[in-house]
Amino acid sequence: MNILFMGPPGAGKGTQAERIVSEFGIPHISTGDAFRLAMKEGTALGLKAKEYVDKGLLVPDEITNGIVKERLALDDCNKGFLLDGFPRTLQQAEALDGMLKELDRGINHVVNLKVDRGFLMARLTGRRICKTCGTTYHILFNPPKQEGVCDKDGGELYQRSDDTEEKVGTRLDEYISKTAPLLDYYSDKGLLREVDGEKEINAVTADITSILRGSL
Ligand SMILES: [Zn+2]
Repeated sequence: MNILFMGPPGAGKGTQAERIVSEFGIPHISTGDAFRLAMKEGTALGLKAKEYVDKGLLVPDEITNGIVKERLALDDCNKGFLLDGFPRTLQQAEALDGMLKELDRGINHVVNLKVDRGFLMARLTGRRICKTCGTTYHILFNPPKQEGVCDKDGGELYQRSDDTEEKVGTRLDEYISKTAPLLDYYSDKGLLREVDGEKEINAVTADITSILRGSL
């Protein structure tokens, strides 16, 4: 079973992906892991990618696509795979179709974790960290006993600059504008499976599992 996982930052995609791969006994392929593997093994593409990464530049699509293709060609993908974090753009989706065709494989399901923007905003901007000991709190899900104060040592709690509404908003808007065409693309192919990502974590896993099992 070949699965693509999609969902905005903060939707719990990583957690759900881990659960699904262990349930179905397939490898979890994230682009980050595929890159690290290619660089570690020093493949031609891995070395090229490293040049860009070392300079702090974005790795061009042709290299990213090549690394994903090499990863998908490995034996452990014969049973299937869960691809996470790729494709991110329509061009990459088309490239993925091409490489899967060459490998004589196809996509069975594109699972999209649907989570409302406001919900994500609350989740992603609620984190607070103790200046003294580094303990992490969340104003909704794991609040300190007294607002703004660490339970352990009375230290002051602060918000990381990445977690502000402005930064989070930019990240979410970027994600939404980039992936909307992808969702249409897979919907047109009849592959898109929308899952309510706002449910409790075990309920989300159960929903995904039943969608995937339903097709076995
Ligand atoms: Zn503390």
